[in-house]
Amino acid sequence: MKLVIASFLKEKKISYYITEETMYFQCLFCYEKAEMDYNTSVWHCNKCAHNGTFFDLMQRLKEQPHQTFDAFKSIYNPKKEIYQIKKQFKLLIIENNKTPTEKKLVQLYNKVLDLIEEINIY
Ligand SMILES: [Zn+2]
Repeated sequence: MKLVIASFLKEKKISYYITEETMYFQCLFCYEKAEMDYNTSVWHCNKCAHNGTFFDLMQRLKEQPHQTFDAFKSIYNPKKEIYQIKKQFKLLIIENNKTPTEKKLVQLYNKVLDLIEEINIY
């Protein structure tokens, strides 16, 4: 079910990301972040209170096939943000190689890694 939903959202260019138990995607009604249990496909949006199942989503898009999400911002994806933060840290550490700043950056980077692990985003 998870892969079916993911490929559907991808095909429709709807911003989404997946964590261990939940799939987050851009709500078709308010364009904020909605969440779905991908085992049952039941979803709800905390922002506009719309809810339903995966099949309701497909139905909605069938009724409004020209609804496009390109113009709307992507939902905040913590996995992507973490990836970019790590990448930037590594670049900064390389750029500051053998300077006093390098040590501070490495310390900060390790603190960020600890924080990510603590809040258990993965
Ligand atoms: Zn919504």
